[in-house]
Amino acid sequence: MTDCIFCRIIRGEIPASYVYQDELVSAFMDIQPVNPGHLLIVPNTHASSLADLDSKLGPHIFQVAMRLAAGLRGSTVQCEGVNLYLADGKAAGQEVFHIHLHVIPRFSGDNKGAFFALRSRGHSDQKQDRDQIAASIRTSLLHNTIPEIRKE
Ligand SMILES: [Zn+2]
Repeated sequence: MTDCIFCRIIRGEIPASYVYQDELVSAFMDIQPVNPGHLLIVPNTHASSLADLDSKLGPHIFQVAMRLAAGLRGSTVQCEGVNLYLADGKAAGQEVFHIHLHVIPRFSGDNKGAFFALRSRGHSDQKQDRDQIAASIRTSLLHNTIPEIRKE
């Protein structure tokens, strides 16, 4: 999948405004955000759909989403609520066939509704804006940790 846009971002061939990366997943700013601070979490290894995703990665992606949601709330981003959104398959609205979870900050009066169409994204911004927001979220992440699962 050499021409996959998310694989190219992960390889560093296309710039992105990163907020988080570990050995399994990467998270960066969506370039067509529903609201400022809209993030994508993608597995570092190409998986086109949920069926292709390593079963270990599902819980990890969700755990990272929880951490990013907390990070958004503590950043400069206007964030009173968060939507997690994943489209698995074309019929579900998947547009990039490298599975990804959207983490979307919401606030009252953002006029996006509960079942917004990702295709009709209203907010346009620049790389510079995304870098600035990403830096704020990264700083917030340093101060927002989710409790580790206790193994008893
Ligand atoms: Zn890919």
